[in-house]
Amino acid sequence: MAKRLPAFLRRLHSDFQLSIITLMSLFGILAITPYAIYRLLEGNYLVGLADATIVTSTIIAVLYAWRTGDTVKPGIYLASIFSTAAVLITINLGVNGLFWIYPLILFNFFMISPGKALSATVLVLSLLVAYALSYPGRVFESHYQMVSFLVTGMMASMLTFIFAYRTRSQRDQLQVLASHDALTGALNRRAMNEELKIATAVFRRHGGHSALLLMDLDHFKQINDRFGHQAGDQVLIQFAEIIRSSSRQEDRLFRFGGEEFLLLLPNTTEAGLLAAAEHLQQQIAVRLRGPGGAVTASMGGARLRAGEHWESWLQRADQRLYLAKSQGRNRIVLNNEPSIPSTHQA
Ligand code: GH3
Ligand code: MG
Ligand code: MG
Repeated sequence: MAKRLPAFLRRLHSDFQLSIITLMSLFGILAITPYAIYRLLEGNYLVGLADATIVTSTIIAVLYAWRTGDTVKPGIYLASIFSTAAVLITINLGVNGLFWIYPLILFNFFMISPGKALSATVLVLSLLVAYALSYPGRVFESHYQMVSFLVTGMMASMLTFIFAYRTRSQRDQLQVLASHDALTGALNRRAMNEELKIATAVFRRHGGHSALLLMDLDHFKQINDRFGHQAGDQVLIQFAEIIRSSSRQEDRLFRFGGEEFLLLLPNTTEAGLLAAAEHLQQQIAVRLRGPGGAVTASMGGARLRAGEHWESWLQRADQRLYLAKSQGRNRIVLNNEPSIPSTHQA
């Protein structure tokens, strides 16, 4: 247990949605369990059983989120359960139950997407008003009170919606910034390490060879030296764009270093890797132009081997890129045999 505690806390710390689902459910369970016991003891089996069902299904939802890492389905489930419970409580308790609607509004925005949470709140408010209009005097003491409740409830939801929406889009932007290179839009090195680890894990479990193609622009330093850093930047942007538009949708492009890029090609045969590399080199020959004319690239490729560590896989691609450079540049090396220079005229 002592060993498991740090991992448990680490997960809570790193997965915000999981921690909020756990915390909110804990509150819910602690608040409802005494009611469930009380109702069952006093013989009100129907309500007691309903309370007990909410508690047990909340526990199941939290366990599901912890086991699978999926927080979306449990979130929708918990928002539905607690919204229904809040409506029923308000119908039963009248005005005193209304106070529960405000924390429910916040709760839903924590559990589900802003759009869904807003819809849930509108639904809850509509149900309460429909019930109040059908049975006057049971929920609200006056029409004035009902209108005040509606206006304040909608205001609280709209403000929370704006806040949740802004937070979500800022979080998405942060995620993009944290995993992408700002100049070329390619994924950065941190993302690369993660995805290479995942590719080796997928291979271990399900098979399917992924391949790597490491590409480096030839004599790039000369472009910077002759035409300036900005001209060099434009070539890098163009290069990344050519690779992206000439590879498959499932291929992933990373900026490995200055003018070095890595393409991860899932489920690729030896022949497929060669075809992909040749196609890229042909596209580069046709489309990549610097201020001083055509720019070429050298490539080193490697398919993942059984039991291989991702770092050694990458190292093999790097060694082959080095071979391509030392054998004259503007060529592809996919094994340790002497390479054939590109037939594409730059
Ligand atoms: P080789 O054919 O052996 O690859 O020669 P090279 O000149 O391409 O390679 P070298 O490693 O000597 O130079 C790479 C240059 O890339 C040096 C560095 O200043 C430049 N560089 C790295 N990052 C950037 C960048 O973001 N923008 C620009 N403009 N230049 C960069
Ligand atoms: Mg270079
Ligand atoms: Mg380089």
